[in-house]
Amino acid sequence: MSLETEQINEIHWLMEMLHTIDVGLVVLDRDYNVQIWNGFMEHHSGLLPRQVKNKNLFSLFSDIDEQWFTRKAEAVFLLKNKAFTIWEQRPYLFKFQNYRPITGSADFMYQNTTFIPLLSASGEVTHLCVLVYDVTDTAMNKLSLEQLNEKLARISQIDGLTNLFNRSHWERCFQLEYKRWIRSEHTSCLVMLDIDHFKKVNDTYGHVVGDEVIRDLSDNVIKEVRETDITGRYGGEEFAILLVDTPLDNALIFAERLRKRIADNVVEYKGHTINYTISVGVAEVTADMKTYESWIEAADNALYKSKENGRNQVSVFQS
Ligand code: GH3
Ligand code: MG
Ligand code: MG
Repeated sequence: MSLETEQINEIHWLMEMLHTIDVGLVVLDRDYNVQIWNGFMEHHSGLLPRQVKNKNLFSLFSDIDEQWFTRKAEAVFLLKNKAFTIWEQRPYLFKFQNYRPITGSADFMYQNTTFIPLLSASGEVTHLCVLVYDVTDTAMNKLSLEQLNEKLARISQIDGLTNLFNRSHWERCFQLEYKRWIRSEHTSCLVMLDIDHFKKVNDTYGHVVGDEVIRDLSDNVIKEVRETDITGRYGGEEFAILLVDTPLDNALIFAERLRKRIADNVVEYKGHTINYTISVGVAEVTADMKTYESWIEAADNALYKSKENGRNQVSVFQS
């Protein structure tokens, strides 16, 4: 084989490889007219090289944000440096459908792109090469991991029996509200409640029925609270509700309405009809409560008072 034939062969193979490589390859001139369009681009866009040759990129693909693209490309022309975009900044450059069987859940192909300045013999940048990488697999893996983490974070905040906040998450929210109160001094009230003689429910009907009673209480609490209130399962059959921006008078009305609602309510479960009552303690935040724990203690004291005075009642904390 002569040297010349060998060189022609090499060029031919290189062209063949660029055409079949699993990366999009586009060459644009200074006016953003397409000069080269490889097999990847043809396959995913459905447009043949001869259909795009010398056509303006933005008239071919109206989805592309022209302002953004030209800003990026002009910097490449001017500085003669490469530039990159990743899917996390911009999911794709060309809106192509995603055909991959494994990552079939993606609606489109996620792409990373590289802009490469192409130098002429005189050292001028006359053309721009854009490489398009299909990163759908990576993107979908990362996105589903993120979704899973979010779900786990949510699960770790929620009590499984009642779907209310669990104690640790409730306390975190409560602490934040306490800090907010220090700054704003908007009055708020804490309500603590506990089912009366609950051991008797468990002893008489068993734990499964006991659980149903706890769930019934949480259902009724949810019906009474506002969206802005912060409700949690504080202990076994003990609940805490922070009534945000609520003065004592209104908190007492709320607590009494809830107490009455529970007292009038019956739980029908597995052939049993169960009546139960709750005792409630209410504490309005005051300046001498120096920590959030002392506010909880105050509400707990009021709850204890309700228990001592015969249960099925609401008491207010008095310092
Ligand atoms: P009091 O009126 O003084 O509150 O009497 P009580 O019997 O309700 O006493 P206490 O509040 O101390 O009792 C809590 C009981 O709740 C003890 C425990 O066995 C039961 N318990 C705690 N968590 C659960 C739960 O998740 N499910 C069920 N079924 N029972 C629970
Ligand atoms: Mg109890
Ligand atoms: Mg209790």
